[in-house]
Amino acid sequence: MNCKNCGSGIASAKCEYCGTLNIADKNISEVLSDYNKKKEVLMRRIEMVEKMHIPQIVKKKKIENIENEINNLKGVL
Ligand SMILES: [Zn+2]
Repeated sequence: MNCKNCGSGIASAKCEYCGTLNIADKNISEVLSDYNKKKEVLMRRIEMVEKMHIPQIVKKKKIENIENEINNLKGVL
């Protein structure tokens, strides 16, 4: 494919000539919908944990772990 900015033939997403990141719009929306799906699953897990009859300290720890997973998801964006 060719760089959308400078038109050079490129082999990877990042143009080695001008540094432009060439990601098709389709890929971005795929990545986003994948992210949203995973985030939704994790948000549901938080809701489930909140309804559990477990000690508050355990609940807090579980929710923290899930929130960390959500934050890790952002790394792929
Ligand atoms: Zn370029």
